[in-house]
Amino acid sequence: MKLEKDVYERIIENLHDGLYFVDRNRVITYWNRAAEQISGFTADEVIGTSCSQNILTHVDSEGHNLCTGMCPLAATIADGKPREAEVYMHHKDGHRIPVSVRVSILPGRNGDIVGGIELFSDISNRAANELRIKELEKLALLDNLTLLANRNYIEKEIQIRFEEKRRYNIPFGILFMDIDHFKKFNDTYGHDVGDVVLKFIANTFVANARPFDLYGRWGGEEFIGIIRNINSPELEQLGNRLRLLVEKSYIIHDNKKLYVTVSVGATVVNDNDTIDSLIKRADTLLYQSKAAGRNRLAMG
Ligand code: GH3
Ligand code: MG
Ligand code: MG
Repeated sequence: MKLEKDVYERIIENLHDGLYFVDRNRVITYWNRAAEQISGFTADEVIGTSCSQNILTHVDSEGHNLCTGMCPLAATIADGKPREAEVYMHHKDGHRIPVSVRVSILPGRNGDIVGGIELFSDISNRAANELRIKELEKLALLDNLTLLANRNYIEKEIQIRFEEKRRYNIPFGILFMDIDHFKKFNDTYGHDVGDVVLKFIANTFVANARPFDLYGRWGGEEFIGIIRNINSPELEQLGNRLRLLVEKSYIIHDNKKLYVTVSVGATVVNDNDTIDSLIKRADTLLYQSKAAGRNRLAMG
């Protein structure tokens, strides 16, 4: 496989690790996006400066200034040997960031050394913390099984939609969906197969969602779609389309196609609604479609 030059450039530019090149005089000639993020310095600020001019002022754990003394990059350019080290880099905002650096030579066309490459990664807890927060957010707002928004998230989102309606008069609607005779399905095929069904239904919603709508798992085998900027006829059409998509989908289990259906209650927000009245109405409509024979939609 041969990649075009601009493909390499894009990959390098978007590396997770900071990367920069220097010439033999340690003048910086390239500085990627992660280097900007980790150090706070933009490429414009550092390209053309010498790293020994103390812009980055790496120090080691004993506080020695590496730029004027034992710089791993200078040593590698001198002897051609790659090096690894843990050093502290100066951040533009003043603080020091621990980075793990790997340096190697930048070879010229004839195998000569035209400069050096430093690859560095942020080893502070910051990155780990950010990741942890993201994980916690996921745990608090996502349903583990289907990876849809959970009830907590749905409620927050509906509050935001109410605010949007109040300020900008943008209407929204709710689709309340419940799998038909799902207890019987579980009893017949087992809970694990039931879980597979919950996931495929979630994926059906997500795959057919408009980007500004949100689908979530309200609980058990109940789902809610929050559909923005929509009127009743459009909501009815959308709800029926999803209902039909579920009806026509199947999973294969023991070489058999298994189908399920959903019943839907659909309603558009009105001026007197609260989150409770809106969901209650959608729930009542859902109950009406169950009573009317299931695999149908009631609009109200
Ligand atoms: P209806 O058509 O009236 O909705 O009948 P139903 O059997 O779907 O309704 P019911 O509320 O009596 O049963 C819901 C069932 O959903 C019970 C439970 O076994 C199943 N269920 C709820 N959560 C899960 C889940 O996380 N995984 C699986 N596999 N099943 C679940
Ligand atoms: Mg059900
Ligand atoms: Mg139910």
